[in-house]
Amino acid sequence: MDTLFFTEEHEMLRDMVRDFAKNEIEPVAGKLDEQGKFPTDIVRQMGDLGLMGIPVPEQYGGAGMDTVAYASTVMELAKADASVAITLAAHTSLGTMPIVISGTEAQKNKWVPKLASGEILGAFGLTEPGAGSDAGATKTTAVKDGDKYVINGSKIFITNSGEAGVLSLTAQIIEDGQKKGIGAFTIPTDTQGLVIAPKEKKMGWRASDTRQLFFEDMVVPANTMLGKPEDGFKTFLKTLVGGRISVAALAVGTAEGAYLRALQYSTERKAFGKKIHRFQSIGFKLADMATQIEAAKLLVFHAAWMKDQGKEVTKEAAMAKLFASEVAMDATTDAIQIHGGYGYVREYDVERFFRDAKVLEIGEGTSEIQRLVISREIIKNAGK
Ligand SMILES: Cc1cc2nc3c(=O)[nH]c(=O)nc-3n(C[C@H](O)[C@H](O)[C@H](O)COP(=O)(O)OP(=O)(O)OC[C@H]3O[C@@H](n4cnc5c(N)ncnc54)[C@H](O)[C@@H]3O)c2cc1C
Repeated sequence: MDTLFFTEEHEMLRDMVRDFAKNEIEPVAGKLDEQGKFPTDIVRQMGDLGLMGIPVPEQYGGAGMDTVAYASTVMELAKADASVAITLAAHTSLGTMPIVISGTEAQKNKWVPKLASGEILGAFGLTEPGAGSDAGATKTTAVKDGDKYVINGSKIFITNSGEAGVLSLTAQIIEDGQKKGIGAFTIPTDTQGLVIAPKEKKMGWRASDTRQLFFEDMVVPANTMLGKPEDGFKTFLKTLVGGRISVAALAVGTAEGAYLRALQYSTERKAFGKKIHRFQSIGFKLADMATQIEAAKLLVFHAAWMKDQGKEVTKEAAMAKLFASEVAMDATTDAIQIHGGYGYVREYDVERFFRDAKVLEIGEGTSEIQRLVISREIIKNAGK
């Protein structure tokens, strides 16, 4: 199926990432999860391999490849370790692409080559304690003071934020006492007034870095604003559409990783004198998993391919993210069932895959929000 959307270059990249994930990530993934340890060495190696800036234009130090290539990379990484995959995906889709999409030439030259090479990591702070799905309820303020802004507020659940060199964040822009809309800023993470909380203790994605951030009278130059004040909301909506394709790819990888392990186990484990895949109930589970994964993969690569054709993909990205994340939850649940009691203990990877799957229905827009987006899009276009 991959060949429908893949060129030879895509296949070469996929095979390279698959080998890297198998040889370098798989052997350590369980331990990183157990210890909640950030995969610093793996991120460095991914930088050396040119994976930290796949969709970034070559003129800014990226690989200049397309969304299909990027989605395929995230998928292969997630088959080994979702924490590594989300580290790369958040860095690329959230940390880097908003600067590529909306940055000035000076901002792009300052940050993007370092991000694309993996020299520094990127993060994006949109969610606040009181503004998640309802991102428009952002309470963080940026008050204009001459050629500077003074930022106060907080963000929550920000991936990579404790490891990042650069952070983009959204805030209500206030000029002369008037609200100007939600804008975005890109700042170095050593900016005075930025307070980074300890790592969250999470159910899954345990090796990935997730933290709360506080802005306490944080003064930033006006030229750190990303786009115009009134464009901030548009910037992050665009960012989220691209990000959804990568999270959908991550979901397919998570589902496929669990499925492949269950398939293998079913050929080894015996009960009542035969291999368990010979029981129809197990064989049918595997058949359903494989079918769902294939369908999710098609949605992901179709959305990625459409984006690469310059088409509007709000609906397609939301469909891919919704479907693939639910497939990941179902497939990881079935993978545990196929492993029986062994699936419930940490000795086997499927327990980690199951814990890693749940957040896919929450991050980058919950399943409810994806349904909202899809329903708006289909109703808007009804009868056209
Ligand atoms: C591990 C992790 C990493 C994350 N990384 C980042 C990051 O890097 N950057 C970032 O900015 N954010 C990040 N997030 C935040 C994530 O995007 C939000 O958690 C998510 O958007 C949901 O927001 P919320 O948690 O406030 O839930 P809420 O918005 O409070 O939702 C609670 C429930 O209400 C439902 N709901 C809300 N509104 C509606 C509606 N209109 N219709 C129907 N149902 C509705 C939701 O679907 C959900 O079931 C991360 C989250 C996690 C857990």
